[in-house]
Amino acid sequence: MKILENVNFAKLTTIKTGGKIPKVIFCEQLEELKMLQKKLGYIKILGSGSNIIPPDSDIDFPIVKLTGIFNSYSITPIGTDKFRVVAGGGTYISKIATTAAKNGIGGLEPFATFPASTGGAVFMNAGCYGTEIKDLLEWVEFLIESGETVRLEVDNLSFSYRKSIFHTKSYPIVKACFKVYKDPKAYEKINIYKMYRNNTKAYSQGPSAGSIFKNPSKDLSAGYLLDSCNLRGFKIGGAKIAEEHCNVIINTGDAKAKDIILLMQEMWRRVYERFGIKLEPEVELLGINKDIWKAFVQDEGKYSYSCI
Ligand SMILES: Cc1cc2nc3c(=O)[nH]c(=O)nc-3n(C[C@H](O)[C@H](O)[C@H](O)COP(=O)(O)OP(=O)(O)OC[C@H]3O[C@@H](n4cnc5c(N)ncnc54)[C@H](O)[C@@H]3O)c2cc1C
Repeated sequence: MKILENVNFAKLTTIKTGGKIPKVIFCEQLEELKMLQKKLGYIKILGSGSNIIPPDSDIDFPIVKLTGIFNSYSITPIGTDKFRVVAGGGTYISKIATTAAKNGIGGLEPFATFPASTGGAVFMNAGCYGTEIKDLLEWVEFLIESGETVRLEVDNLSFSYRKSIFHTKSYPIVKACFKVYKDPKAYEKINIYKMYRNNTKAYSQGPSAGSIFKNPSKDLSAGYLLDSCNLRGFKIGGAKIAEEHCNVIINTGDAKAKDIILLMQEMWRRVYERFGIKLEPEVELLGINKDIWKAFVQDEGKYSYSCI
């Protein structure tokens, strides 16, 4: 186990904002994780930090990063054309998808196009190009309060759009098993998905946390609603709505969490006033950001709430 003190959140999140973390604990073994859980009671794990908006103020709890055995995976054949991938909670899915595809194994290709750890993707039921992580999952193993690991099959994990059982039970995800299959064209498919991704120019404009709000329904995208409110390029401080995609906020260099939260409030308010729809954040607002957002929504966007 390694511990770093006073780490800038900006170094651990893709949007590159946030205050200081008192301790970042790098856990390499299951026994270490069990010991930590026993000691701390509650563990906040950070995957690749690609869905998090941390506060500007320093947080008062440690952050755990999974390394060592949690960064490994195995691919085992089942019969002639099916395989099982068992991945540690800290492993980048893009890495697994790419290696599998190079070996003619397909299924995970859409996940080669964005930064997500296995734990983060399972937690979020991440998805793109018509596939959600739950579609490929067989089971997930996680740590419960008693220090035991529990394995649950996919149907028992309450998956829905960008949601899982882990939103209500804060259990560290230790490993996950994906069902994949033989596909000689898998690597070609990755390149096609990467081409689609590169066409979303917003992501190449600067650091972001992906989509800010969830789509209200399958047929109605948050991006469309926000675009209809003429929000392209709208800027507060160092945070800017991407010209190319209104549901993406770019850190133009010196954005604070405060700028991002105020911008999100402006986005929410405009959509609510014009369409009567209350957008729900897809990004996770951490620490005080969460309380600020709750108060703002409770007041139906009448007041702006800024970080202290
Ligand atoms: C450029 C870009 C493009 C993106 N495109 C997409 C997309 O197409 N589709 C999509 O769904 N998302 C997308 N995202 C958002 C993001 O990548 C996903 O939500 C991803 O699943 C988050 O994974 P992470 O490892 O970064 O998790 P983090 O952001 O680090 O954490 C997210 C949540 O998961 C929890 N968590 C992480 N690991 C564990 C663990 N081992 N055990 C328990 N809890 C854990 C964290 O505590 C936190 O609550 C994009 C983001 C970016 C920056």
